[in-house]
Amino acid sequence: MDALDNSQTIRRATVPEWLRQGETRLRLQTIVRLRWLAVLGQSLTVIGAYWVLGIDLPIYPLKGYSVTMPVKNPSAAWSVSLSDDAHKLVLSRLGDRLRIAGTAELNGYDTAINEVRCQAIVKRVMELFPGAGDPSKAEFWTGLRPATPDNLPCLGATKYSNLFLNTGHGTLGWTHACGSGRILADIVGGRRPEIEFPTR
Ligand SMILES: Cc1cc2nc3c(=O)[nH]c(=O)nc-3n(C[C@H](O)[C@H](O)[C@H](O)COP(=O)(O)OP(=O)(O)OC[C@H]3O[C@@H](n4cnc5c(N)ncnc54)[C@H](O)[C@@H]3O)c2cc1C
Repeated sequence: MDALDNSQTIRRATVPEWLRQGETRLRLQTIVRLRWLAVLGQSLTVIGAYWVLGIDLPIYPLKGYSVTMPVKNPSAAWSVSLSDDAHKLVLSRLGDRLRIAGTAELNGYDTAINEVRCQAIVKRVMELFPGAGDPSKAEFWTGLRPATPDNLPCLGATKYSNLFLNTGHGTLGWTHACGSGRILADIVGGRRPEIEFPTR
């Protein structure tokens, strides 16, 4: 800490103000450029990896919504995980908060929040559990799920002996996480998977 303070003191004393301003600008520009380069590099790495490896996965982004609001009336609120199959919503309880997640939107990689969809979720929950939560304090979030057309994950070996896939779980990534991990461990270990699973 002392060393840092000393070096800052020395720099302040010796570097003229105009040079320091220029230096700050340069540093900011460098950071911005480096960040762009990192993003570009990452994208090229992924695209490059697919291209070089020749692996074409039928995975597309499936946008989902998540609504979180504080519990208003505990006796009116749910306490276990529930699924509203008609509206494709999953309701869970996080202590004094209620979380509702679901819906599926095909809109590329756009994660923008559609207010109409959010309010539709809030309305449905209020109908199912009147007074349970406080919608005025609701927080909204969207996320992209890696989905496949037939809802089957891409799981298992590839044409490369040391490359295995465990992706494309769509709306059930958490649910399938342990099972998929178990299956993959067996495959990597050269064993017949104990868990039966459909292949694509
Ligand atoms: C709205 C919604 C509802 C869902 N509901 C359910 C459900 O009810 N049941 C269910 O089973 N599943 C559900 N899922 C799916 C589940 O959330 C995911 O399958 C699960 O979160 C995947 O976990 P993960 O740790 O593999 O990836 P993630 O949770 O996506 O974590 C990956 C992490 O890596 C970070 N990261 C990414 N790239 C980089 C990088 N280059 N450098 C550093 N960090 C990086 C990310 O920021 C993130 O924190 C839902 C998904 C969404 C979007």
